[in-house]
Amino acid sequence: METTKTLKMFIAGEWVDSQSGEFNVTSPVDGKVIYKVPRGTREDAKRAIDAAYEAKEEARRMPVYERAKLLHRVAQIISSRREELARQLSIEQGKPYATEALPEIDETAENFRIAAEDIKRLDGRIMPSRDPQKLILISYEPYGVFSVITPWNYPFLIPSEYIAPALAAGNTVVFKPSSYVVGSAAMLVECIQSAGFPPGFVNLVFSDGDFTGREEVGDELVTNSKVAGVGLTGHSSTGEIVSKRARMKKLLLECGGLGPLIVLDDSDLGRAAYAAALSSFSNAGQVCCAAERVIVHERVYEQFVERLVSEAKKWKLGNPLEEGVMVGPMNNEPTASKVDEHIKDGLNKGAKVLLGGKRAEGFPTRLYYEPTVVVDVTRDMLFNQDETFGPVAPVMMGSSDSEILEIANSTIYGLQAAVFTRDIGRAFRFSRELKAGQVLINESTLYWEPQEPFGGIGGKKSGVGRLGGVYTIYEMSNIKTVVIHTITNSP
Ligand code: NAD
Repeated sequence: METTKTLKMFIAGEWVDSQSGEFNVTSPVDGKVIYKVPRGTREDAKRAIDAAYEAKEEARRMPVYERAKLLHRVAQIISSRREELARQLSIEQGKPYATEALPEIDETAENFRIAAEDIKRLDGRIMPSRDPQKLILISYEPYGVFSVITPWNYPFLIPSEYIAPALAAGNTVVFKPSSYVVGSAAMLVECIQSAGFPPGFVNLVFSDGDFTGREEVGDELVTNSKVAGVGLTGHSSTGEIVSKRARMKKLLLECGGLGPLIVLDDSDLGRAAYAAALSSFSNAGQVCCAAERVIVHERVYEQFVERLVSEAKKWKLGNPLEEGVMVGPMNNEPTASKVDEHIKDGLNKGAKVLLGGKRAEGFPTRLYYEPTVVVDVTRDMLFNQDETFGPVAPVMMGSSDSEILEIANSTIYGLQAAVFTRDIGRAFRFSRELKAGQVLINESTLYWEPQEPFGGIGGKKSGVGRLGGVYTIYEMSNIKTVVIHTITNSP
């Protein structure tokens, strides 16, 4: 049994309370209160921003090898606390300990290692000038203060995707996690603090905004004039609000997806069905690049569906700390209610549930959702319009490559897409025509490596900019152009 822990915020190198009381965070696993959390206010956010602003010159001047050494130390500390962090992650977020929480902690440590190495090799350019007596130098400089605002589905990994490169690039950070996963955020900041970063380099503020619908702390992080850039992962609707509120700040936004996983009639159906289940049920489907729509060629529709149902039955639902459990509880009630709503809407419009379709009985909370396969999904259903964000594989049918492409591209999202085919020509055509930031061929929609650029395609609502490896360092750096006239004496 877990005891309730009282958390503090981290501002200017000190663990501090808020002036305005506390809120509670419960575990989705058993519904018990696990954290009492200072309810951060706009004033707390301002204090944290002031601390980051005061530290920004020191951060800018810190030699890159010193930054790299500290980032490597963070990675070592995370790895040395691996099991403890992963267990807490399972309890707070709900993901299975062995198959998802431990790998998330490992990837988090890896993000700090990658940032440490990338910054040592961040070379600029010397460009030829029209005038042979001039040199044009292009280099990278930190922005100053970066706000980092993150969701609840990857409480360690997503913050690390911003914080590690921000520090590597010489920025300082004010970090506001989702209200649902404050414990993970505090542990991550503990690891960063104990590596020895000076006060003000990383600051942590909490908010109960996800419970109340009033996000004052986040709004301060987006609008305060001392903040130079905002990195936010969240809903597309949040991304849109933040884009407006941030005005001229640098923005790095990672938002929603409706990842089609496409199964063409020449594909290996066993491989495709395995990947579709993995893409729909990992992290109980609460993933931006989940297979929110599985679009199948009509010639193989029946055979594929049969295989998908048998794959789906292997995904054991239960307590995420128990061995063999592959799907834990969903993280929170609003997200689970949205799944109910999408299933109800689909059934009303003619979809059929072949497996699951409801919350499971006999668990300590109502957040355990049965892995679900829904077929005969059509374009007018919510499944095809908005993220379901639960352990659901909604299957649609297409009668030709062009119709499948048209369905795939028909939404506001454009994050990640997968195509199963044995025909290299078709693979290239789909990868060119799909409106997505990343296209996977014969792989799950979840496939991702930390050094690659990840993000939404331009012109849609999945975000702006790229997260991943050195690409984030570039996003979090100003380009400085210096023109030098090499003749210093009068002619
Ligand atoms: P959310 O948009 O509700 O919240 C994200 C963060 O933004 C939270 O910290 C929240 O408190 C904060 N926030 C909300 N309103 C704000 C405002 N007006 N100003 C400033 N901050 C504000 O999202 P969520 O429910 O926590 O996460 C799920 C969403 O995140 C899904 O849409 C999912 O697809 C998306 N996501 C995207 C990626 C990606 O890489 N593209 C990765 C993970 C999750």
